Amino acid sequence: MEDNILEIKNLSTSFFTHLGEVKAVRDVSFSVEKGKVLGIVGESGSGKSVTALSCMRILQEPGRIVGGEILFKGEDLGKKSNKEMRAIRGNDISMIFQNPMSSMNAVLRVGDQLTEPLMEHTSISKKDAMKRAAELLSLVQIPDAEKRLRAYPHEFSGGMRQRAMIAMALACDPELLIADEPTTALDVTTQSQIIKLLSDIREKLGMSIILITHDLGVVAEICDSVVVMYGSMIMEEAPVDDIFHNACHPYTLGLLNSIPVVTGDSKNTRLEPIPGTPPNLLQPPPGCPFAPRCAYAMKVCTEKAPQNTQISDNHRSMCWLLHEDAPDNFLKRGNPIVR
Ligand code: SF4
Repeated sequence: MEDNILEIKNLSTSFFTHLGEVKAVRDVSFSVEKGKVLGIVGESGSGKSVTALSCMRILQEPGRIVGGEILFKGEDLGKKSNKEMRAIRGNDISMIFQNPMSSMNAVLRVGDQLTEPLMEHTSISKKDAMKRAAELLSLVQIPDAEKRLRAYPHEFSGGMRQRAMIAMALACDPELLIADEPTTALDVTTQSQIIKLLSDIREKLGMSIILITHDLGVVAEICDSVVVMYGSMIMEEAPVDDIFHNACHPYTLGLLNSIPVVTGDSKNTRLEPIPGTPPNLLQPPPGCPFAPRCAYAMKVCTEKAPQNTQISDNHRSMCWLLHEDAPDNFLKRGNPIVR
């Protein structure tokens, strides 16, 4: 579709370890619209980050894309040479990683790190690159930008380092920004400032964002649509309002039920964790990957993988409960959100 900047079609990525093939991403398809924010949520190990690394083609050995297409503006990144990918990374697609301290070079001044992508991808002079670097630091609301360019990363607070990482990612005006858990290592106040910053930048620059997170609160604040991953597959995809008000997959419901709610009354409300542990991706279960932990699991769930059911135009979910013959069909009786 013309409105999509990125279309992932049937992407599969595996890690070929000495124990066998770890199927980290299985048959994943989704798209990102121009100027929109897509959230990818799920527990650790669900395949979120590997999906992002596959899009950027920066998987480390023994990881390998084993199938599917990554269409960026209609062109398959899987078919690009390493040289072509180097030109795309940082220029057209940028990525922010979750730990700004380990992602920045501790012995290089912030200004030198900010000018590096500019010098690599454009023919800009060092002097103009420094000017642009100061503009970028101001854009991410770091005060005294020119002076800060001479600082080393350890002289920045955690929040400032994350802002500097965002500035670095924005250096060449990318059309797609992939942010992998950009707020995980930060305190709550700084988290909320960084999310507000990403939202402002998206509006100002009109870029598309993929936001990888395990935090549904962050999703509610900034995302337009959401992909829910579990066991290396997509369980549900929907506009953000549908995820919060009309979720149709037991795993999504489990995630929603495990969010703390501030009710204002004195009643103690208990969080409801999802019991059990994620599947072993060396030997994923033959049926639904969520079956061993699902309160609604039926015999068929352990034997055969469910197909996607289209609930509305942009809402699909992969669960046997949505099958028209399911005894406890979610769609017929309404989903069981208790809160
Ligand atoms: Fe649960 Fe079965 Fe649906 Fe999987 S397919 S989420 S096991 S009900």
